[in-house]
Amino acid sequence: MGIAVTSTTACAEIIAIGTELTCGSKLDTNSQWLSRELESLGWTVMRHTTLADDLDLIIEELQAAAERSQAVLITGGLGPTLDDLTREAMAAAFHQPLVRDAESLQRIEAMFAARGRPMPARNVVQADRPEQAAAIRNDWGTAPGILLQVPATAENSGCLLAAMPGVPAEMRPMFEHLVRPHLLDSGIQMCRRVIRTFGYGESEAERLLDGLTARGRNPEVGITASEAVISLWITARATTEETARQMCEETEQQIRQRLGVAVFGDGDLELHDVTAGLLQQQHETVALLEGTTTGGQLAMWLTETPDSDSVLHEALVLPAWDNLDVLEHWPQHVQDLMTGYFRSHPCHWVLLSSPIEDQQAAAGVSVRRGMVALATAIELETADVSMSGNLAIFRQRAARTALNLLRRRLLAART
Ligand code: AMP
Ligand code: MG
Repeated sequence: MGIAVTSTTACAEIIAIGTELTCGSKLDTNSQWLSRELESLGWTVMRHTTLADDLDLIIEELQAAAERSQAVLITGGLGPTLDDLTREAMAAAFHQPLVRDAESLQRIEAMFAARGRPMPARNVVQADRPEQAAAIRNDWGTAPGILLQVPATAENSGCLLAAMPGVPAEMRPMFEHLVRPHLLDSGIQMCRRVIRTFGYGESEAERLLDGLTARGRNPEVGITASEAVISLWITARATTEETARQMCEETEQQIRQRLGVAVFGDGDLELHDVTAGLLQQQHETVALLEGTTTGGQLAMWLTETPDSDSVLHEALVLPAWDNLDVLEHWPQHVQDLMTGYFRSHPCHWVLLSSPIEDQQAAAGVSVRRGMVALATAIELETADVSMSGNLAIFRQRAARTALNLLRRRLLAART
């Protein structure tokens, strides 16, 4: 049964204020944290903006953000010094005078008194807020936040702005306790799932997905690539949780159909966990004989899995393979070796990797080449790995290529 597609979105954006951010001396971690929070509440975060401590710039951005989004979260610029301009900018942007909030002032004074220090005169400005706004109590520091509802116009549905301190240790609890409750009712339920694949490149995966990654689709499907693993992020939005979940599942099925055995898991599952799991289910063991192509990467991963002794027969790293001058001879060499190996080692599979061969490709680019292989007592399956760039990434790609040979054979044996 088809599911009604909703195009409803609740759009939010985040503005991080502070010249320490724009000049590169501090990293804006607040926006990342807030985005995750907003997404979990069903809000779609469309924009992160980072601004220097410049009044005109902040005013301009606040006005534009309130025009296009239903919620705007702002961090930074609420300190007592002359470069903290968020209060002033909010008042000017929405044409309101600044007023001094009596309750905030009392709390700030009390906070200094509790520390046994006189309050510096400059700190009184931290009690200021635009006239129509509400102060957000700060139980974790001196600077109160500001909550301002900008009314709807003919062009938009209004916007809730919440300004919070830049210090993450103050911003986070303020958001959780005092801002989040205002954002609970986005009207949208979101379901997200991550599907992990190995074997196709990004473009090839997208071609096979045939339109699923088109923008504006609901569920949305995003693709990210990391160390040869392609992850597909499904995000479904609907008015009920159940519908969002069903939409997510339907798209997941379509992805699984189109990418087949390349899909190895979901969430943050790793290829070696899946492969080890299959070995455990089938009560089989693997030995690892690694040349410099994987250089111990397979051993590292497989020994990380719980009960690795139940799947790992032995693991050897071989800095050099005997009698091997060129990579082309490696498969034959390995095949000869395996006949004897399986006679003296009671295991089901052997994963192997060759030495690395460095090759000069065109235009002076050097390419690393290596081979990986999966051996049983009677046959050998090999795969080439070649890549320029970082050695650690080459090794991970090679090790995943080897694991994938084994995973596919284990899956085939199950059916
Ligand atoms: P402010 O509220 O602008 O006075 O910021 C106080 C301090 O909070 C800054 O010096 C930074 O160390 C930190 N901070 C401000 N904005 C951010 C942000 N977006 N991400 C992480 N830390 C921040
Ligand atoms: Mg600042």
